[in-house]
Amino acid sequence: MALTSEGLAPGRALVSGGSGFLGSHLCRRLLDLGCQVVCVDNLVTGSRDLTAPLLDRPGFEFVEADISVAREYGADFAYVLHFASPASPPGYLRHPVLTLDAGAAGTRNMLDLALAAGARFLVASTSEVYGDPLVHPQPESYWGNVNSVGPRSVYDEAKRVAEAYTMAYHRSHGVDTRIVRIFNTYGPGMQVDDGRAIPNFVCQALRGEPITVYGDGSQTRSLCYVDDLIEGILRLLASDEVMPVNIGNQEEVTMLHLAEEVRAAVGSSSPIEHLPLPEDDPRQRRPDTTRARELLGWEPRTPFAEGLPPTIEWFRGRI
Ligand code: UDP
Repeated sequence: MALTSEGLAPGRALVSGGSGFLGSHLCRRLLDLGCQVVCVDNLVTGSRDLTAPLLDRPGFEFVEADISVAREYGADFAYVLHFASPASPPGYLRHPVLTLDAGAAGTRNMLDLALAAGARFLVASTSEVYGDPLVHPQPESYWGNVNSVGPRSVYDEAKRVAEAYTMAYHRSHGVDTRIVRIFNTYGPGMQVDDGRAIPNFVCQALRGEPITVYGDGSQTRSLCYVDDLIEGILRLLASDEVMPVNIGNQEEVTMLHLAEEVRAAVGSSSPIEHLPLPEDDPRQRRPDTTRARELLGWEPRTPFAEGLPPTIEWFRGRI
C-alpha cells in the first residue's frame, strides 16, 4: 500500500514554530489525523492569528516559549517536529543571532526532548543548505556551495548545523530522526510583511504598487503549494527514512516570469520595478525529488495556476 499521511500513527506531537506559516499548517493537519498537538512558538516571526482557529480544537495547546532556551515541555511525546526559525531572507537578516540559536541550541533542545521522550524527531531543513548551487537540479547527495561568512550564512549554516546535530543524536544516542529539506513554498498562511517573492508580488499587485523584481529577474525558483509540502512532510514522518529528503516542486520559473504571472492573475496593472539583487542570492534552484517519489510515493499535485488563486484570496483579506 502506498505511504500516505493517513498512515501516521496518532500520538502527542510537539511542533516548535507552530505559529509560523508551515508550522500552523502542520499543527492543523496533525490534529486532523487524530494527534494531540503542543505548539511552541516565541512569536518573533510567527503569529497568534495563524493558530487562533486551532485553539478551540480538542487536543491543541499553545505554549509561548523560546525553544533556544532549555525548559520542560513534558515527556509523553510520540513526535517532536522542529520548525522554529525565521525563514524568509528579510526575517533572518533582521534576527541573525536568534536564527543561529534556533538552528543550533534550538535543535539541540528539541533533540534532547525527543531523546528523553523516546519520540520520533523531524527537523525542517531547507534548500538553503545547497547555498548557490553548482549542481542543478539539487539531489540530496549534493554538499552545497555555501558562503559561511555572507549575510545568508546565519540561516544556511544554522540549518546545516541542525542537520549535523540531528545525525549526531541519531548515530550516538539512537534517536529516531527525519530530515526534510524544504524548497520554496507558498500558499495561504504567509504573512503580508514576510518579504519573500510571493507575498511581495501578490500584495504589490493587489495594491497597484510597483512589483519589485530583484536584479534582472532571471534567477529561478520552484514553488510548491503548501498542502502538497505538508503531505510530503507527514509521509516522511510516517516513513523510516533517516537520511535527508527534498520536498518541493519541479516546475522552475524565473522571478520575472513569476512577477508577470502574479500580476496577470491579480488583474493588476502594476509596473515591474527592478531593485538590486541581494548578496549571495542563489541563481537557480530546483529540487531533484527522486527520493521523495521513490521512498514516499510523493509528488506535488497542485499546479501553480491552482495554488495561486487561494493564495491571492488569503492576501486580499489582509492588506
Ligand atoms: N525576490 C524578488 N523580489 C522580491 C522578493 C524576492 O525578486 O520582492 C527574489 C529574490 O531575490 C530571490 C527569489 O525572488 O531570487 C526568491 O526569493 P525569496 O525571498 O522568496 O526566497 P529565497 O528562495 O531567496 O529564500
